[in-house]
Amino acid sequence: KKCLLWFRKDLRLTDHPALAKAIEEGYEILPVFLYEEGGDWPVGGASKWWLHYALESLSSSVSDAGGRLLMKEGGGDVRSSLEEIIEEHGIDLVYWCRCYEPEAIERDTVLKRELRDLGCEVKSFEGNVLNEPFSIESKSGGPYKVFTPYWKMCRTHEVRSLYEYDLSKVRWVMAEGGDALEDFDLLPRIDWDREFYAIWDARREVGERILSDLAGGKAMAYGEQRDLMGVEGTSRLGPYLAWGQLSPQEVWHRIVAENASEEVHSGYLRQLYWRDFSYHLMYHFPHTVSSPLREEWKLFAWKGDGEVVQAWQEGRTGIPIIDAAMRQLWQTGWMHNRARMLVACFLVKHLQQDWMYGARWFWDTLVDADLANNTMGWQWSAGCGADAAPYFRVFNPITQAEKFDSHGDYVRRYVPELAKLPMKYLNRPWEAPADVLENAGVELGKTYPEPIIDVAVGRQVALDAYQRFKEAC
Ligand code: FAD
Repeated sequence: KKCLLWFRKDLRLTDHPALAKAIEEGYEILPVFLYEEGGDWPVGGASKWWLHYALESLSSSVSDAGGRLLMKEGGGDVRSSLEEIIEEHGIDLVYWCRCYEPEAIERDTVLKRELRDLGCEVKSFEGNVLNEPFSIESKSGGPYKVFTPYWKMCRTHEVRSLYEYDLSKVRWVMAEGGDALEDFDLLPRIDWDREFYAIWDARREVGERILSDLAGGKAMAYGEQRDLMGVEGTSRLGPYLAWGQLSPQEVWHRIVAENASEEVHSGYLRQLYWRDFSYHLMYHFPHTVSSPLREEWKLFAWKGDGEVVQAWQEGRTGIPIIDAAMRQLWQTGWMHNRARMLVACFLVKHLQQDWMYGARWFWDTLVDADLANNTMGWQWSAGCGADAAPYFRVFNPITQAEKFDSHGDYVRRYVPELAKLPMKYLNRPWEAPADVLENAGVELGKTYPEPIIDVAVGRQVALDAYQRFKEAC
């Protein structure tokens, strides 16, 4: 029998649940990737860049194993593309790993029925999470909305062992034709990805190397370093996980095998459960990808000011740490987690702009854009999600920068026009005496913007808005 193996957010050949099953059952395997545009959350610009190279990497792994990855532009109609392939190659079964985005669930449910009507056997397997969103239930039977009890419950579930199989024994269906990777037009037309090449390498084997370094030492220092914005203290495995080039189980087992300590469990491994938690929330509360989990927040009177949002996007707010973070995002396709929390808080609280503007911008510019994590991160920051930071907790971006970028390396790297300022004024250039500014070559309003808002005033604006919102609810 011939099995069409449909790759989606699982772009790897190792520890692949659907591939493992197809091999175990002795089928001939046709590996397929269909590129789809469209939907409410079409693949963002930076993710497309990543996807281009991730597909190149998957395609060459399939070739090394003796097969050929058939790639096709889905053209917004994956059903027709699948039907064509099924007919042309006499396919008996279609296997895939589950995606949990609401639109994907809706599409897959219909597809299953339609492909079965065509006489195909269709099976879906676990997706790229440690525990499937529906497999963790609170003691009273429903989904969790708070992380810590969720995590405690997860820790009573064993992480499954890795799927083992011999790729050299696979009998591949060799399909001719399809589209070339270049036909998907995934790389940007403007020269915006220049710096990406120095920082990122989307090949799976590079993800494996990063994992090796992490397991071999970096994971131990994670707890101490993860909040320091100027230090490479986090793993940067996000995009490999987002596209399923590494499974979270591969990461978990590798780290546990080399670091059995509780410190690593409550540090690095806990983050993998935050990731799972965001999938749990997205699955159980699908409306959250476009509106707040706490529905009363729909009434919040956000201001919609395009110029303010643009200044934030372009790193021109005049608040150095915010500008550093937003420029890091634009230049490198990534932003440090603490910086993500600071810029999100600043946008929604000090500037009073809808969190959705921020979520859409991150979606387009992050190489690790992930709908579940992004939604949870933004709603956490805006105070309208599960287990969210309370709205009245307003980060002070200046004191946060002085604490978590205490030598100013991060700000100096991404806001070079302030690099010569002494640490005392680096995060508050408007307080610097004229001679200090002159010596550093800074002219506020000319070489660097005046602050878009006084940080203390912004905090009060946020608290007043919250008070009005509470009274209206
Ligand atoms: P590490 O610190 O090395 O962590 C390892 C992995 O654990 C990450 O790759 C990620 O998969 C997971 N993880 C870590 N922190 C979190 C977290 N807080 N929530 C959920 N999963 C986590 N993460 C994304 O993967 N995609 C997004 O689109 C995204 N958007 C965010 C938006 C906002 C406003 C905020 C506050 C956070 C967002 N995050 C997102 C979570 C977090 O910032 C990133 O996962 C992390 O910075 C990625 O860097 P890393 O791979 O070095 O992570």
